[in-house]
Amino acid sequence: MPAEIKGLNEECGLFGIWGEANAAQLTYDGLHSLQHRGQEGAGIVSNDQGQFYRHRGLGLLAEVFRDSETIHQLYGTSAIGHVRYATAGNHGVENIQPMLFSHDEVGEFALAHNGNLTNADTIRGELREKGVTFQATSDSELLGELVTTSDEDGFINQLKASLNHIHGGFAYLLMTPHMMVAALDPNGFRPLVVGKMPDGATVICSETCALDQVGASFVRDVEPGEIIIVTDEGMKIDHFTTDTHLALCSMEYIYFARPDSIIRGISVHEARKRMGALVARENPVKADVVLGVPNSSLSAAIGYAQESGIPYDMGMIKNQYVARTFIEPTQAKRDRGVSMKLSVVKSVVAGKDIVLVDDSIVRGTTSKYIVRLLKKAGAKSVHVRIASPALKFPCYYGIDIQTTKELIAANNTIPEICTQIEADSLAFLSVPGLIKAIGDLNDADNHGLCTAYFDGNYPTPLYDYQAGFDAEVARLGLYEGANTGD
Ligand code: SF4
Repeated sequence: MPAEIKGLNEECGLFGIWGEANAAQLTYDGLHSLQHRGQEGAGIVSNDQGQFYRHRGLGLLAEVFRDSETIHQLYGTSAIGHVRYATAGNHGVENIQPMLFSHDEVGEFALAHNGNLTNADTIRGELREKGVTFQATSDSELLGELVTTSDEDGFINQLKASLNHIHGGFAYLLMTPHMMVAALDPNGFRPLVVGKMPDGATVICSETCALDQVGASFVRDVEPGEIIIVTDEGMKIDHFTTDTHLALCSMEYIYFARPDSIIRGISVHEARKRMGALVARENPVKADVVLGVPNSSLSAAIGYAQESGIPYDMGMIKNQYVARTFIEPTQAKRDRGVSMKLSVVKSVVAGKDIVLVDDSIVRGTTSKYIVRLLKKAGAKSVHVRIASPALKFPCYYGIDIQTTKELIAANNTIPEICTQIEADSLAFLSVPGLIKAIGDLNDADNHGLCTAYFDGNYPTPLYDYQAGFDAEVARLGLYEGANTGD
């Protein structure tokens, strides 16, 4: 199910390469496999011996680079690129990355960002006081402005000081005339990996599926608090902080990442199958057939079928060829999007008791639409099984749901949701089940996952979002046990 229909959006994908003749083309190819992380804009900056070339625009990558000549005019042996999902009010082309900054020492640098800063308002205020005027309205520019106005000596020291000044979820790729630099926040909320091309060029990108796409082999994950500096002399691993605590976003495994990606040694497809198996074990039901909502729930549906012994079948198909209109995230457009994207295979569904496996429920309207579709096609009963826990809390680390108003599970009990989506039964995976399904991320202290969306256990203080969170607590009164990492 496309992100724009479900209403749950990741905020960007990153790809960079250093030391390869075809740098811009490979960056395009890598970004193509990261398109699921952002569909509203794309951009590439290339570097030809210190001369930067940039092309960026609104829309899918193929729309932005429709004219094949555009890529060929991005000269050079290094490039960084970005695909973007924009939060409301951030739709202008000025917000499309990579962004460019002038710098006293290095001349010029490009920057691309995945994530969300929790102290962005404070930093924007501080920078305004220093006389900074902003190129754009998104948070992504702030790190670049902090670097250019830093009092430290040298680009890397300025970058380290700036990274220590920002908070929240962030993965960055930067490029100066002489180096490519990657940085990951102290909790490592977002995946970021390093790979090598067969001829030795270095690739850094959001997911391993992009390494596979360009023929690079996996070298390592970028660790929380690290900066990785790539030059013609090779790769150097450095830190801006060692005060780190892994809390990788569990939604990456549930929904955001591509199933063929491997995050911190764990296959996304296999983790989803285990989520499906565990939701089957926790919430068994008698039925004739298991269906998954295409495409992001298919792995979990296979896992449910294997565990329960109920056959899996392809009861729904996704129309791949629906013309894409520019996404305005309204419910009316989402409803229309679902009706154009999904169809039911009647022979699989008619007269059957069905287990419908989905990866998550956000607003509930999509689920209701799908249950109705199945019943219209003759399903006797539809038992909905969600292969993740109920979404009850806002995310402040890079997902565009920062209020609980739209989250159906924050405002209703499970029986109420079941009635609203017109299902015959409804159950979610438990939080311990989710953690077990993903597995051990080798963090010294705990499981190494962020589960705040489900249980309100925020791994960091919320800074500028604390007042908004407190208002949510007061409004709903269901946050007993919630913890904001203070
Ligand atoms: S709050 Fe949820 S979506 Fe946000 S980082 Fe944590 S697990 Fe991921």
